[in-house]
Amino acid sequence: MMLLSRRRKDKPVPVPVPVTGPDPRVLGPSSTAQTLNLLPIPAAIVERGAHGLVFESVNRPFRLAGLGTTADLSPVIRQLGARIGSFLDSDTNDYEFDWELGDAVDARFFRVRFARRSTERDNGRCLVTLIDHTSELRTQRSLRREMLTDSLTGLPNRAGFGEDLEDEIERSGIDRFAVLVINLDRFSRINACMGGLAGDELLISVARRVKGALRGHDMLARTGGDEFAIRLELDEGLQDALHVAKRIQNALTTPFRLSDFEIRVDCAIGIAIGEGERGDAEELIRHAQFAMKRAKKSGRTEVYQTRAFDVVRQEFSIETELRRAIDNGALALNFQPICDLASGQIVSFEALARWTTESGIALSPVEFIPVAEESGLIVPLGRWAMHEAARAMAVWDARAGGDCGVKVAVNLSAIQLQRDQIAPMVQAALEAHGVDGRKITLELTESALVTDPDRIAQTMQALKALGTTLAMDDFGTGYSNLAYLQKLPIDVLKIDRSFVSGMLADRDKVAIVRAILSLAQALGMQTTAEGIETNELAQTLAALGCNYGQGFLYSRPLCIDAAYALLLERNA
Ligand code: C2E
Ligand code: CA
Ligand code: CA
Repeated sequence: MMLLSRRRKDKPVPVPVPVTGPDPRVLGPSSTAQTLNLLPIPAAIVERGAHGLVFESVNRPFRLAGLGTTADLSPVIRQLGARIGSFLDSDTNDYEFDWELGDAVDARFFRVRFARRSTERDNGRCLVTLIDHTSELRTQRSLRREMLTDSLTGLPNRAGFGEDLEDEIERSGIDRFAVLVINLDRFSRINACMGGLAGDELLISVARRVKGALRGHDMLARTGGDEFAIRLELDEGLQDALHVAKRIQNALTTPFRLSDFEIRVDCAIGIAIGEGERGDAEELIRHAQFAMKRAKKSGRTEVYQTRAFDVVRQEFSIETELRRAIDNGALALNFQPICDLASGQIVSFEALARWTTESGIALSPVEFIPVAEESGLIVPLGRWAMHEAARAMAVWDARAGGDCGVKVAVNLSAIQLQRDQIAPMVQAALEAHGVDGRKITLELTESALVTDPDRIAQTMQALKALGTTLAMDDFGTGYSNLAYLQKLPIDVLKIDRSFVSGMLADRDKVAIVRAILSLAQALGMQTTAEGIETNELAQTLAALGCNYGQGFLYSRPLCIDAAYALLLERNA
């Protein structure tokens, strides 16, 4: 564990060792050289002479260690003079410290001890012993270096990156730096489809290209399976970071060649800029990761700005307005049909939140869901969505004079899953509107599984007990552990739109969709393809064995009444 503790890299590390220096009492004033020679470690008797300190005698290990002779001390050992002097002036009898001799490359590390008998305090003599820890320290340092390095790419890993950033921030102040976090899209799928070796090769090539896009003093690290981070030194502020982000995007546009395939790698980039005195390295990294998550949704580079966000929060009280919107019904749910690819009939509607602010701006959920997640408002927002969806179902059933024949799907955010008691919340909504659990689908994302898999597994079991259907949303974009997926009661995989749109022109995407479909089949799950905009795509997906489809081809999201009208028309 000692190895894990945080160390400053520029100082030698003290190694806790039992104090084994000789007892000065065995050294009478008459015995000097012979007695010293009995000691297995470098030792010397130092005396205050008329012209300063004198190494009265030194033993064999002292000479062998290259520390010098009484007549000719090594220049560095002379540096101890000042400390010996102040020891002799003090009233302590024992003083120990760590000492580095020589410079970086061939530095040696000693535990040095000064000692004397209390009765000798006035005669200006003391015993100096040195214990050499160089080899332990070297081993410890190289182990430590290993622990801070990613073995695949040779770049610093997450821990190494954090330490380096912390050091740099300490040296030059946080406002000199930005952190960029780059997350590769679809990497886990590439890994699954083409094998780990190809995945490794790809990571190495990506690292090389990204590094090529950086300036000399920027630092690249691999901070996760498919995540890289960069420490950027800012000369001109945010502009520098945006520039680098652009260069990285450009560097990755040319496809990568892996065995017989050409692979295109897209990435999401999040940027956080260090500001003022607030915040530390870890916070900066977290903020950049947060921005990266937004970038994944928005499809463009996102910047996290603490101060800017605070300003928005205070001046426009976006949270207050969002809360008011939830309370006052300024939020609405729209419903987008999900169709059986074979028959074209609607099987369910996905409920999607819409918000028009008081000043009349229609905000996309891509913008306000992250705000809700960050502020904790995702809990009331999620509860509102669940209730509204159950209410819509009750309305449709009432209009149909019984069972309207479709389900309604509600999105659950990973953060909502962490913060709310989901199963009781869903149950309350069902009871409030008299809706059967079998009429509800809940859409979870892979990221929900990462934080606390056991708790999520329990929640999912409880949701199944209510009769609901569980769908894994945006499948393929996260890092699902496939073995784990198998243990969860998931009924449907929703293939992310990024694989589906443009699939017909991209063999890689087809390969990924095929892989997901056969995975789903093996696991006994059904599949929904998102983002279907053309008939051709719908037919291809149906031919590949996909069960359901959703997208503008069938309909854009509609208000509750328009959705019911569409249901009557299509399922008649
Ligand atoms: P999602 O769950 O992946 O929802 C599907 C999104 O794809 C919707 O965007 C939908 O309008 C859009 N879409 C559907 N068909 C097509 C198509 O053919 N082409 C294109 N280009 N887009 C299509 P929307 O409504 O903007 O929602 C964005 C995201 O916001 C959702 O992604 C979901 O993650 C989140 N979201 C929306 N409502 C809620 C909610 O009530 N709770 C939570 N937690 N998240 C929500
Ligand atoms: Ca969804
Ligand atoms: Ca989705």
